[in-house]
Amino acid sequence: MPSVLIKNGTVITMDRARRVVERCDILVEDDRIRAVGDVGASCDGGADRVIDATGCIVIPGLIQTHVHLCQALFRGMSDDMELLDWLRLRTWPLEAAHDEESIYYSALLGIAELLRGGTTCVVDMETVNHTENAFRAIAESGIRAVSGKVMMDWGDDVPEALRETGEHSIVASVELADKWDGAADGRIRYAFAPRFAVSCSDWLLREVGRIAARRGAYIHTHSSENRGEIEIVEAERGARNIIYLDRVGLLGPRTILAHCIHLDQSELDTLKRTGTHVAHCPSVNLKLASGIAPAPEMLDMGINVGLGADGAGGNNNLDQFVEMRLAALIHKPRLGPTVMPALRVLEMATRGGATALGMEDEIGSIEPGKKADIVLLDLRKPHASPGACADPVSRVVYSAHSSDVVMTMVDGQVAYGGGQLTNIDESEVLDRCDEAIVRLARRAGLAR
Ligand SMILES: [Zn+2]
Repeated sequence: MPSVLIKNGTVITMDRARRVVERCDILVEDDRIRAVGDVGASCDGGADRVIDATGCIVIPGLIQTHVHLCQALFRGMSDDMELLDWLRLRTWPLEAAHDEESIYYSALLGIAELLRGGTTCVVDMETVNHTENAFRAIAESGIRAVSGKVMMDWGDDVPEALRETGEHSIVASVELADKWDGAADGRIRYAFAPRFAVSCSDWLLREVGRIAARRGAYIHTHSSENRGEIEIVEAERGARNIIYLDRVGLLGPRTILAHCIHLDQSELDTLKRTGTHVAHCPSVNLKLASGIAPAPEMLDMGINVGLGADGAGGNNNLDQFVEMRLAALIHKPRLGPTVMPALRVLEMATRGGATALGMEDEIGSIEPGKKADIVLLDLRKPHASPGACADPVSRVVYSAHSSDVVMTMVDGQVAYGGGQLTNIDESEVLDRCDEAIVRLARRAGLAR
């Protein structure tokens, strides 16, 4: 069984007691953490590989509970717009223009950024077509992902290539779930992904609720991001978004809702009662002028909240360190400086994500028995120093940059280290992505 000893780091365990342990070793055997503490002396000579973490901070792999790998290619193509225009004028036409190769390289581009930035697990929403190729990229890259094809059978301004019948959407989703759920040694899981109530028929949403319940499958969708979206849902379905999603059977402990910005008290109560999880996406909510989600209020109520960057088409990065810093900052003017301390934010970015996936016994902290999803940060740099007296959690949330990540391990495998991605040819991906976006922009009528 291959073993790796990560030696002598300052380990932010995020265990139940939230212990931070200095001069701490981590022994990894195969895909799991075997021991945490002073294990170096007993097995130094025995480990197949020793990684010296002296001077480094070690954190659990970051978990992003809402991204779109298929939009990584659209970075910089759709700035300074609000959500519904951003979808209708840019994102849908570009998604409609995707082909098998462009989906594959878009996913690899997004994953390259994620692994370089310490994200080891994502909840991903693809587009209508070619999702197989995103799964292929996820499998090859080494990242952990819950993903699924987007479902949309309703609404105006949807390009021809993204229009599908509800029946086709269900059949295609079930086929993908049968093939990919549990693939790549369990690193890949499937989520049914109706885009949002604006682009899904009542029939489709009810079918997704029924099938996901029968299979025990994840549901991943957007809700209550934008006031215009809420007005459309109220006019067409006769209820506020969250109340409607509950009515059609979409809410529950296997469901992750992205955004949840504009909620009334009855909607908050419904999220709590159903055990539904929320993905807080502060950057994109600011950039699309959507608003600020009541994440602190949700956490106070006992609603589980994870953190995510959403797509690079809207964000324009997939950087969990930016999301952590913003999640810590944006609520303070409204609710005071103590409302989102660094530890609460790091909890969202690690344990909160694990809980959203029902994987709290597998990922989200550095503890014996858990999957070895581990990130090393080198913060011996001016922007994060001095470190001698500062709280390590504060340094990670308030000072660190994603470029401070020096090693990202997923499932016991080093996916990024020594400045190199193990399984991704980065320069090839960058070249192919430049070619692909030219092709897609031309097809979508968006070429400059
Ligand atoms: Zn999204």
